[in-house]
Amino acid sequence: ELASLMEVSPMEVISACFSLGVMVTMNQRLEADTLLLVADEFGFKIEFSDADLEESITEVEVDAPEDLLNRAPIVTVMGHVDHGKTSLLDYIRKTNVIAGESGGITQHIGAYNVELEDGQRITFLDTPGHEAFTAMRARGAQVTDIAIIVIAADDDVMPQTKEAIAHAQAAGVPMIIALNKIDRPGANPDKVREQLSAMNVLVEEWGGNVQSQEVSAKVGTNMDALLEKVLLQAELLELSANPNKLAQGVVIEASLDKGRGYVATMLVQAGTLNVGDYVLAGTNHGKVKAMLDERGNPMKAAGPSIPVTILGLDGAPTAGDKFRVFNDEKEAKTIANKRDQLQREQSIRTKKHLTLDEIGRRIALGEFKELNIILKGDVDGSVEALSDMLERLSTEEIQVNILHKGVGQITESDILLATASDAIVIGFNVRAGANAKDLADKEEIEIRTYSVIYAAIDEVKEAMEGMLSPEI
Ligand code: GDP
Repeated sequence: ELASLMEVSPMEVISACFSLGVMVTMNQRLEADTLLLVADEFGFKIEFSDADLEESITEVEVDAPEDLLNRAPIVTVMGHVDHGKTSLLDYIRKTNVIAGESGGITQHIGAYNVELEDGQRITFLDTPGHEAFTAMRARGAQVTDIAIIVIAADDDVMPQTKEAIAHAQAAGVPMIIALNKIDRPGANPDKVREQLSAMNVLVEEWGGNVQSQEVSAKVGTNMDALLEKVLLQAELLELSANPNKLAQGVVIEASLDKGRGYVATMLVQAGTLNVGDYVLAGTNHGKVKAMLDERGNPMKAAGPSIPVTILGLDGAPTAGDKFRVFNDEKEAKTIANKRDQLQREQSIRTKKHLTLDEIGRRIALGEFKELNIILKGDVDGSVEALSDMLERLSTEEIQVNILHKGVGQITESDILLATASDAIVIGFNVRAGANAKDLADKEEIEIRTYSVIYAAIDEVKEAMEGMLSPEI
């Protein structure tokens, strides 16, 4: 009901609840406090008209099309270790046209915005890797517009490359492939293109729709062409936001600084953030005392897609927390306190993440339409065979999606992806590493391991038929 009133999908409401730490099912009645907070996440206010808490929702903010202006794309760089993510980000940072004027970007604040020669802008998230990307997504924050997947052209498509691609695809974020290190004598970009095509990622040169660019992040070859492709992709996405309203966005990172107090890097997604604004970020709040850009220069205002460091919060919010500006401090404070209280209550209750049993139960109730699976195995042949067979279990009612498959141990990254995408993790003749196990316990992600293909198929099938008996 709430979802249809706000004209969003029920899954979005459920995931907003999850990110507030409230584990709910489709037909569950939300408590008044939760209703307020969830509606707030979508820009709605709830008014309770009587003691029965009959709610009427008043729209507070839907942007008129004429208020929307273009905004810069926000880009994350992902790829296998040593393939050149850091070098790429460093090169772009250095060639920023503003760099010459005011001394370049010296501070790491988690994100930076570059201006290209023609005046166009791109914002880069400065923590490369899909772990950071998916950790944010697990908190319900969709920050990235475009993912650059860096692949060293003198190497192969490696496990982390595959992971990065799976993470971008699971998030529905378009990719641009940067075939890096083409200055190297051993570079063979065609081989990489072929390996990509084998995993159904077809680059444009091969008749597909994924843009790619050969580059050298070290020498700088074709880096301008890569950025052009980012802008082209951004144009296709028609990225826009209304700069003329109270700011909202996402926390990129936050810390306690000895001299300055709590320092948080925020990425504005809509509206304009000003010095003096009252901000609510996660369970923290405060008046913006000062704002700095990535060069450490003071700023007075920051519009959509612009990252800023702010001083003045009463604590350090978590990366991926949403922030929002309020007209008065009291309102910000009240919601911050409510959220804090709610989070504490929720952490006492046991939260319930997805397990195969739970999925079976919800499928039986007609609440579930998709079964997301992350599949790891000991050899490629059995991973492929199992993946094929699992996907073929799809019925008209339930789609089985293999979000990611690969050879090797179950890693933390797999668990993160499962958390962000409501997936279960299946291991075939492989186990979870110690860190992955800890994270899975914490996030309550179910890992099912099998050593017989048919056992895996049977259990998933049973779950889909809603008749799996709980694992003891
Ligand atoms: P990351 O782990 O993906 O962040 O990779 P780095 O950016 O740290 O790069 C790993 C290594 O590859 C470093 O020694 C870089 O100097 C080198 N490297 C990165 N890009 C290039 C390139 O385009 N050409 C060459 N020859 N070396 C590169």
